[in-house]
Amino acid sequence: MILILPPGATIGIVGGGQLGRMSAIAAARLGFRAHIFTPEAGGPASQVAATTTVAEYTDHEALTRFAAAVDLITFEFENLPAASLDLLAGQKPVHPSPEILRISQDRVLEKKFLNDIGIPTASWTAIQTAADISTLPGILKTTRLGYDGKGQALIRTPAEAQAAYDGLNPKPLVLEALVDFHSEISVIVARNASGAITSFDPVENRHKNHILDITLAPAPLPLETLAEATRIARHIAESLNLIGLLAVEMFVTATGTLLVNEIAPRPHNSGHWTLDACPASQFEMHIRAVGGLPLPPATRHSDAVMKNLVGPRDMATWPAILATPGLIPHHYGKSEAREGRKMAHFTRLFPRGSLPGEFGLEAALRLTENPDA
Ligand code: AMP
Repeated sequence: MILILPPGATIGIVGGGQLGRMSAIAAARLGFRAHIFTPEAGGPASQVAATTTVAEYTDHEALTRFAAAVDLITFEFENLPAASLDLLAGQKPVHPSPEILRISQDRVLEKKFLNDIGIPTASWTAIQTAADISTLPGILKTTRLGYDGKGQALIRTPAEAQAAYDGLNPKPLVLEALVDFHSEISVIVARNASGAITSFDPVENRHKNHILDITLAPAPLPLETLAEATRIARHIAESLNLIGLLAVEMFVTATGTLLVNEIAPRPHNSGHWTLDACPASQFEMHIRAVGGLPLPPATRHSDAVMKNLVGPRDMATWPAILATPGLIPHHYGKSEAREGRKMAHFTRLFPRGSLPGEFGLEAALRLTENPDA
């Protein structure tokens, strides 16, 4: 039987950051209550949720109480220990499934899965010892717990191999061929328990210091490339039997080939533009998908540029951003703007079909520059 969550039901969200905050707001708009599980009191998600359990992700007693208090469980944070995941899944429906989380937590399992279903990735080798590092240049990565460029090292010569190996933890590691990419894109797919599926338009992501800086929606690429990116993302979601949301990050090579870099079964920073440019955002799709609600087509009414505000330097421009007409601000409610911390973002909308054509990409990017920077 497929569960259709009735208004008034409680959705348990594991993780208390900005993705949980925006998911909880979307849940509230659909008449649900959000119950956050997080080790940190008073964080971005707790500020807007009905209830919070503050406990470590390994606290089985707290996880049991949390599961008992909610109708279903989803995630904004993927790296829950396997035993905690099994405990939750033993008590309440968990979407996306623990199996999908296990695959996305481990770069080797992830790449094996993708290659097995015919999806190309950068060529890769599982690394057990420094002696396994042979084909260079390459990027050595931890298989688990890496994010925003942490847990990886570029190796150009054999002389660099041992130090890179020693410096990366936890082991084991994986070595990926260095991709000479033209751009980085992502596609966000939603699928519910009835098998209904929809996906947002592929977007281009530009990074600064390994952290997402700007998203351009849609990605300025040929239509065939956009269609192929969408096909790949939907194929992955269907092969995983996804219930929920999945972000698929890809490299576009110089010849237009697509290689999947990684997948994340949760709302994604590169989907924040959907809050302002789509009738139903990625967060609403997430809640609808896990709750068994109908999925409207993930259409956009506008083109958009999203800009992340990271750390104290970006946040110094917040007053100026608020004073600039046309910028749509989203603050995450974090008290301290530490270096490298995602604090807020803003979106600027353009008439659908006008980005980059009519305005020109450079002009669009200028409009997202912080006025005081
Ligand atoms: P990841 O943590 O895997 O998302 O990697 C962070 C960033 O490092 C990506 O967004 C790329 O800019 C870069 N990167 C990761 N893997 C590769 C690769 N195999 N070749 C070239 N660049 C990469």
